[in-house]
Amino acid sequence: MRIHLKTLGCRLNEAELETWSRDFRAQGHQLTDQLNDADMVVLNTCAVTGEAVKKSRKLMSRTYRNNPKAKLVVSGCYASIDPTETAESLGVDLVVNNSEKDRLVEIATRELNLVAMPELATVPGENTLLTQGRQRAFIKVQDGCRYQCTFCIVTVARGEERSRPINEVVDEINALHNQGVQEVVLTGVHIGGYGSDIDSNLYQLVKTVLEQTDVPRLRLGAVEPWDLPENFWSLFGNPRFMPHLHLPLQSGADSVLKRMARRVKAAQFTQLVEQARATMPDFNLTTDIIVGFPGETEDEWQQTLDYVEQTGFGHLHIFAYSHRPGTRAASMPNPVSRDLIRDRSQQLHQLGERLKRETLERYVGHQFPVLIEGNAENLEQPWSGYTPNFLRIELAGDKGANLENTIQQVKLDCLAEDGDHLIASLVI
Ligand code: SF4
Repeated sequence: MRIHLKTLGCRLNEAELETWSRDFRAQGHQLTDQLNDADMVVLNTCAVTGEAVKKSRKLMSRTYRNNPKAKLVVSGCYASIDPTETAESLGVDLVVNNSEKDRLVEIATRELNLVAMPELATVPGENTLLTQGRQRAFIKVQDGCRYQCTFCIVTVARGEERSRPINEVVDEINALHNQGVQEVVLTGVHIGGYGSDIDSNLYQLVKTVLEQTDVPRLRLGAVEPWDLPENFWSLFGNPRFMPHLHLPLQSGADSVLKRMARRVKAAQFTQLVEQARATMPDFNLTTDIIVGFPGETEDEWQQTLDYVEQTGFGHLHIFAYSHRPGTRAASMPNPVSRDLIRDRSQQLHQLGERLKRETLERYVGHQFPVLIEGNAENLEQPWSGYTPNFLRIELAGDKGANLENTIQQVKLDCLAEDGDHLIASLVI
């Protein structure tokens, strides 16, 4: 069969899509990035915000409209929160809940009578990521979360914590590295909770990956700012473990963090920031902020702005509060008006852009090894990539030699006009 895979949402969804693509190919199926050519379409949906739900529904109806003959399989958080509505949607042949999505290929094969022909599996060892011009692989290490932050629908959609055995993760990374992948990102819902169900922890996982693989660059996906294991910071002593963390803060006001049922206070978050920067001066911290959580007063908002300013994050992901039925926050009083949320978001965007510029400017003149991303054929797009501490760079000048998926020493020459990345040159 020709199979088209599509995902919305987070890196975990992307990691799952990469696993499904490998599993379908191992069964002799072909992947196509053309929806209209597909015999079967698999969608990995998202429900983190009301907007994401709308996008998931739109994607399902567009898929059916553009290719009504194809079998349609839907999984992911939207399908798990509302399986009935998903199953009744036009053209949907199969709904696979999040709790079973690791076995999606097996379930689809059985339920839709797919014919598996492993002998037809093409070019063993060819990596779909690299053939798609992508250089970074997302590795699912954990799923689910034991906490119930009051705004969060993910914990509802993904259920209890489940960790993948360390040796399975190591084998997957070694296989990808043998196929040419040079950077992997360990991802999950609450990776700080990794191992809680298998008597292990994130320290053991990262330490073992660094010891039993040779992949040059290892990153972590978003990490909640609690449950970090002992000795966690010592892991960054290994130059293959990239000194950047995305630590979702959500609010800088303890009173809001309390209403969100977050397991952290501003002062504790500051301790993590100080530990990171004591570990490595170039350590880059980025974060998520929710704007307009129910009841957010002017004073609480000012506390968030002040906290973000003091901490000097390298990048902000800014989310307007999204009313999610099924969460406790949905029934909280004093909703913040959309106009006020828009004004506060604009304020935070401006602050975020200034802090990002200041972070990038601090590194002008420095040299770093960068994994070069991009596509040799596309002469419009300059070579680009990220420094170990996740600063985005673009190489100046003509494209020249094919540097795709190579690690190059670069010098950071100046800030780009848009203030969003740095212009760099190769160190010969
Ligand atoms: S810790 Fe993260 S995934 Fe868990 S409930 Fe809170 S926001 Fe959701």
